[in-house]
Amino acid sequence: MARTSSHSLSRYGNLLAPHVLLIRPPKKNILTSNSLLFFDEKTLIIDTGSQRQYGHLKALSKIVDIDNIFFSHYHIDHIVGSHILPNTKKYIHELEKTALHSLENYFLYCYQNRNILQELKGKWFQRLMFFLKREGLSTWERLNLGNVQSVQNGVKINIGVTELQVIHLPGHSPGHCGVYDPLSHILFIGDMEISSNFGPWYGWPNSDLSAFRKSVSAVIEFIQKHDISLIVSSHSREVTKVEGLILLYRFTNFFDSRSQQIFDYISCHKNGVTLKQIADQSFIYKGKESNPSFVWEFFELIHVEQHIKELLNHNQIQMEGNLARKI
Ligand SMILES: [Zn+2]
Ligand SMILES: [Zn+2]
Repeated sequence: MARTSSHSLSRYGNLLAPHVLLIRPPKKNILTSNSLLFFDEKTLIIDTGSQRQYGHLKALSKIVDIDNIFFSHYHIDHIVGSHILPNTKKYIHELEKTALHSLENYFLYCYQNRNILQELKGKWFQRLMFFLKREGLSTWERLNLGNVQSVQNGVKINIGVTELQVIHLPGHSPGHCGVYDPLSHILFIGDMEISSNFGPWYGWPNSDLSAFRKSVSAVIEFIQKHDISLIVSSHSREVTKVEGLILLYRFTNFFDSRSQQIFDYISCHKNGVTLKQIADQSFIYKGKESNPSFVWEFFELIHVEQHIKELLNHNQIQMEGNLARKI
């Protein structure tokens, strides 16, 4: 139960409604995310990724009892910071619960059955450990995620008068979820990043372009059927219902334009092209590079694979060995 008034909470974030506080990471930084705190008889926070060392969550937890955490999905930028609230009930979609049990599980889940080169695997482990160390954590286990409970689509989490509705929106990750608050009419859509410059992201092998397309359509339908005051996402600014709808349609166009670009590139090469050749065109990251470079190179290739799968399903291309060719 909250021990303080909404007034004193406003110094830690933006009050989007009298009982809803949006907490942003202290500095925009890679692998951090917004947290959304709902307070009623009990409190619930969506994601703990706003915590970097010296972030607001720690200070906030000293004046508010945070009873529940709902993780929108398992990605590190949404769960890091959970160690700040060790004695809190934690929830995640049922598909993603085991991914949180260990660093090994986390990667097994990301990779699915894909064979990852030992060297690349080592690099990913190092990268994750780097982010944990940034938060002052020496091991994955210190995130305190052993007791996470699983939830399903449509579950309502009751924290008083406020009854938060979980909406399963797979695609970005298999168990990615949004949350709707019928009291404030705020809709949280997690990493469906409609208001940032970087388009839809489906760069792990367990992402799913076709599911993502369906989830965008489901959100559009949900918005059209419900009162919506604000649409909040995990890494960028909140938007109104009208703007949200425009941005969601734009999001769908990203899927289509990426598919078209990849199809056009394949069409121009009568002898066929490898997926690596397509990824080298950087249709997703537009020539920008990450540091270290293997991160976006890997994600670019997975995005391409997702579109190849779609083009194959639509009988627009065929694979001959490792070459993609227009039919
Ligand atoms: Zn994510
Ligand atoms: Zn994220």
